Amino acid sequence: MEKFIKNILVTGGAGFIGSHTLITLLENGYRLIILDSLVNSSETVIKRVLNLSNLHDKKRESMAIFIKGDVRDQKLLINIFETYTNSLQSIVAVVHFAGLKSVFESTKFPLQYWDSNVSGTINLLKIMERFNCLNFVFSSSATIYGTNNKNLLIKENDVINPINPYGQTKDVIERILNNLISEKNKKWSIAILRYFNPTGAHKSGLIGENSKGFPNNLMPIINKVAFREIKELEIFGNDWNTPDGTGVRDYIHVMDLAEGHLLALEYILDKNNKSNFIKLNLGTGTGTSVLELVDTFSRVNDVEIPYKFSARRDGDVSYSVADISQAKSKINWNPKRNLKEMCRDSWNSYKKQKDYKFRKLH
Ligand code: NAD
Ligand code: UDP
Repeated sequence: MEKFIKNILVTGGAGFIGSHTLITLLENGYRLIILDSLVNSSETVIKRVLNLSNLHDKKRESMAIFIKGDVRDQKLLINIFETYTNSLQSIVAVVHFAGLKSVFESTKFPLQYWDSNVSGTINLLKIMERFNCLNFVFSSSATIYGTNNKNLLIKENDVINPINPYGQTKDVIERILNNLISEKNKKWSIAILRYFNPTGAHKSGLIGENSKGFPNNLMPIINKVAFREIKELEIFGNDWNTPDGTGVRDYIHVMDLAEGHLLALEYILDKNNKSNFIKLNLGTGTGTSVLELVDTFSRVNDVEIPYKFSARRDGDVSYSVADISQAKSKINWNPKRNLKEMCRDSWNSYKKQKDYKFRKLH
């Protein structure tokens, strides 16, 4: 008798966090349908993920199916659910990474952000409901906590007050998910994961953080300085209320995040668990200042990072570090990789991908 196949739909699976999560899910036996518009990624990433997975050639093709398309495309989503939901298989859950993610860009193009992030998610949830697929893992962000200048660890029930369109789209999606959970007649199971500052890369260096536009985040910019594409790093403010005056963040290795997704997915799929709704911070619980990150990156990779101080960046906060006790106790998640590994893996991946582009390899 043929075994019934349980598929997971992964939207945005070609992106930074999505691609690393694909590896962890494949290694744990999940069959994946990957939907990505490639607006901020490329199909090469999927090929590399499949090569990195320890599946043999034939199995790879059947365990991960890539579909290029947009989550706002209702017809396409219906088609995907119809194709992969029948007497032999069904889509049992969706892990939803797809969306636009630049804070700065969201202030310039707010409509695009509301459309892609909020309309895209509503569209997806409607089709899921239609096909009775009610298990959902959502990529939220620490940005939703807004201004926190008290230098205290952030807990999940702290005040939500996003101060930019990107963070506001994440907040609104979280509210929609809250509404679904309180519906009486449907049994949604939802995990909201609030990432702090994802960084690092798979140890192979074959995939990593590869945004199409110019990056705004610190680690990708440090990589560019290290590669001498930028003369020096501009450090936004040295007068913050922190030990060395520079901003403190909670950097988290992307492979630890990937493992967090696996555990969250397993939690919501296990109907014996107490709750059908979890909201979890995913960080390390340890703060690192800009100067500390620069210093660690330089030492671990033996490369100089010239920098200068400039004015504070609009909308920045002094300190953003997660209290991760909920993720530890609810899904038994313990991030394992330290700052040195984040710096080493990030630089290794950056150099390798520059080399691939230079030699026009896939
Ligand atoms: P990413 O841009 O690398 O990945 C997102 C992927 O989604 C890309 O491959 C992109 O092509 C795809 N995509 C975008 N809009 C789409 C659409 N409408 N339909 C289909 N595909 C679409 O970003 P990432 O860093 O991997 O982030 C993944 C998720 O995590 C995003 O929702 C982001 O907002 C959230 N997040 C990221 C960070 C971070 O610092 N990287 C922090 C907190 C939350
Ligand atoms: N930062 C900086 N120079 C840069 C980019 C970032 O000094 O070119 C600082 C920023 O002010 C913050 C920290 O680095 O204190 C992390 O910034 P990032 O944009 O990566 O993350 P976020 O602020 O969204 O948490």
